[in-house]
Amino acid sequence: LLRLGGVDKSFGAHQVLHGIDLELRAGEVVVLLGASGSGKSTLIRCVNRLETIDAGEILLDGVPMPLEGRELARMRAQVGMVFQSFNLFGHKTVLENITLAPVRVRGVPARQAQERAHELLARVGLADKASAYPAQLSGGQQQRVAIARALAMEPRVLLFDEPTSALDPEMTNEVLDVMSELAREGMTMLVVTHEMGFARRVADRVVFLDAGRIVESAPPRDFFAGPRTDRAREFLSKIL
Ligand code: ATP
Ligand code: MG
Repeated sequence: LLRLGGVDKSFGAHQVLHGIDLELRAGEVVVLLGASGSGKSTLIRCVNRLETIDAGEILLDGVPMPLEGRELARMRAQVGMVFQSFNLFGHKTVLENITLAPVRVRGVPARQAQERAHELLARVGLADKASAYPAQLSGGQQQRVAIARALAMEPRVLLFDEPTSALDPEMTNEVLDVMSELAREGMTMLVVTHEMGFARRVADRVVFLDAGRIVESAPPRDFFAGPRTDRAREFLSKIL
């Protein structure tokens, strides 16, 4: 469904990604691990063309992600993104946050977008929060709104960049539960997280990035039982 081939990315003289090859099949959940600065966020942002790439290709369903303009907006709508910092519009209600993009970008009629938003809020356990403002919600609730907002675009793939690292443990679990449920329903997901429990339980595959190179790619059981590289062993010994 999603394929990166030979992706290089530099910031000035600093090459951050080296020849990244990565494929996500439909319904697959891949957890991306790596030390701080290894390039996880950059990789995720490249998929959506929030960063330009210097070499390689990014294909969605075999179609190259367009570089810019209307075509890019259309493809980007199929690749949902959830960040560490929620990024909700503070002056808009929960319902407005969720309906804005479907109405503006996809041309969904407002009434229909609202109905769908209510369904999505129910799905993330926030049926009663439609008219609240983000500041009135806990971090975990805000992040679940952000997930509902991403889902409102009916994406083919969801990208998550440390969606729970700003949350305390209880809220983290609320968000991980929603993500696990999405995985069960067959959503294709690429997830950067330090939640190893989630990686073990939910991931189909763990990909380990070291200094901008993919050095391991394995089912979680194999990866956690015996990482093949010293770097991955070292990483796990620090985090577990
Ligand atoms: P973390 O676990 O801390 O989030 P990460 O694996 O997500 O780390 P990235 O944020 O992708 O790492 O950063 C990889 C490297 O690229 C770092 O050395 C970082 O300083 C550099 N970098 C990231 N974004 C930029 C930018 N906009 N301009 C210059 N350098 C950048
Ligand atoms: Mg990061």
